[in-house]
Parts: sequence; structure tokens; C-alpha cells
Amino acid sequence: MPQLVVATSNPGKLKEMQAYLTDPELAEWKLILKPEGLEIEETGTTFLENACLKATQVAHALGKWAIADDSGLSVEALNGAPGLYSARYAATDQARIQRLLSELQDVENRSAWFTCAIAIARPDGSIALQTEGICPGEILREARGSGGFGYDPVFYVPEQGLTFAEMPSALKHTISHRGRAFQALLPKLKEVLSSQF
Ligand code: IMP
Repeated sequence: MPQLVVATSNPGKLKEMQAYLTDPELAEWKLILKPEGLEIEETGTTFLENACLKATQVAHALGKWAIADDSGLSVEALNGAPGLYSARYAATDQARIQRLLSELQDVENRSAWFTCAIAIARPDGSIALQTEGICPGEILREARGSGGFGYDPVFYVPEQGLTFAEMPSALKHTISHRGRAFQALLPKLKEVLSSQF
């Protein structure tokens, strides 16, 4: 069974990727976690650069196909922050939301967008595919809903009239930055991987 290494040691991330890659044409590919001991650097200046860096390092080190993603929230009035620092903006999800709301206290412009970049690297480390999905929205003044994770309770999508945290997971799965990135990736990924065997 050919293996596709997910450039993370987090089993939750592996499960999430599996959910997006449930296609009969990819069924023979087994997604596996990168070994814990393999450190990867995220020194890029964009989501796409980081996804490519992670996929390349893992593929090259293991000599196997690898997939990596990088994602985060950008807020227009904060010049794109937290951006690449979304996960490190504060210590917990709740503290990250608190910090965001206090930075935006009196700000009228609440426009924001989530980005998800995905990269696939060949066993020699070269990049075979890269894609990006974006979901635009607004930052609310207080949290709403209990689903999802991260900034979901304050990220409102006007077309749906719901925050990410209020959406049924199937809906978030379809319209989110991650959903859009995987929808764009899937047809190309099937082509690239099926041509391997
Ligand atoms: P990473 O791509 O795993 O490094 O995650 C980046 C960070 O962006 C996460 O820790 C969250 O804080 C935030 N983030 C990315 N995607 C989402 C999402 O769908 N909902 C809420 N927060 C997200």
C-alpha cells in the first residue's frame, strides 16, 4: 500500500486530512503521521511557503510522498494579524479570542478571512502540487456557538448568517478555507497519485 505522510505528529490533524481525502481513487493510499523525532522548520513568510517547506522536508527526509497544510486567520484592520501567528497569538483558544476582541474593541472594520494552504511533495522533496483556499467573513464583538475550534466562535460568515462555531460540521467542512483548498486539490491529487502506479 503506497503511503502519504502527513507532515504533523498530531493524530487529530491526520484524522481531519483523512476526512477530506475520502475518495475511492485514493483508497489505496495510506495516510501516516510523520515520526515524532523528525523536526520540521516553519520559516516561511506566507501560508503557502510554510506548507511547501513542511511537505518538502518530510518527503525528503523519509523518501515518501508527503502532504502538509498551514492555516490561519487574517484580520484586515490588524494588517493581516494574527496571520502566520494564529496558533501562537495567546496560550489557549479562549485567550486568543479574548486578545483578538480586545485588539478590535472600537474598530468598525471587522473584515477577516481564513486561509488554508496545502502542499504535496514528491519523495525527492520537490513540490508536485500546491493550493490555497480562502473563506472571507467578519469578526463578531462576542463569541457565538459551541462547535469547531480556535477562532470559530467569533468568525461570522454573512452568506450563512452563522459563525463557524454555529455551523453543522458538514457545512463548515464545505465552505471553510480548508474545505475549499481540498476541493481545489482533490482532482489534481488524484491525477498525480494515480499516475504513480
Ligand atoms: P495550523 O495550520 O495547524 O498551524 O493552525 C493555525 C491556527 O489557525 C490554529 O491553531 C487556529 O488558531 C487557527 N485556525 C486555522 N483554521 C481554523 C479554523 O477552521 N477555525 C478556527 N481557527 C482556525
